[in-house]
Amino acid sequence: MTQKAWSIIAYTYDADYHCIHCTIKQFRQNAEWSIDVDEHGIRQEIEDSEGNYVTPLFASDEWINFEMLIEEYCSDYLKENPIQILACGTCHDEIDRWKEGE
Ligand SMILES: [Zn+2]
Repeated sequence: MTQKAWSIIAYTYDADYHCIHCTIKQFRQNAEWSIDVDEHGIRQEIEDSEGNYVTPLFASDEWINFEMLIEEYCSDYLKENPIQILACGTCHDEIDRWKEGE
């Protein structure tokens, strides 16, 4: 995928990943009266149903933790699952995918 490392590709809230479209549907405010909104009109420090912040996921963040965990605990896992798909917890659309060595 051709994305800039700092572009937002998804959000985390309600203990799952959600695509930008679903996040906008649920959380977008009237951007004109709010100064602290991001590029998708999502206000910083807005809370989900569990009282946690809705957190943007940047293209550069996405698989870093995953790769570290895999290396440390389960390198065999990748032989069986060489492609990992990040999907939206609301609409189940694919947000991004990871392939070993890419
Ligand atoms: Zn979605």
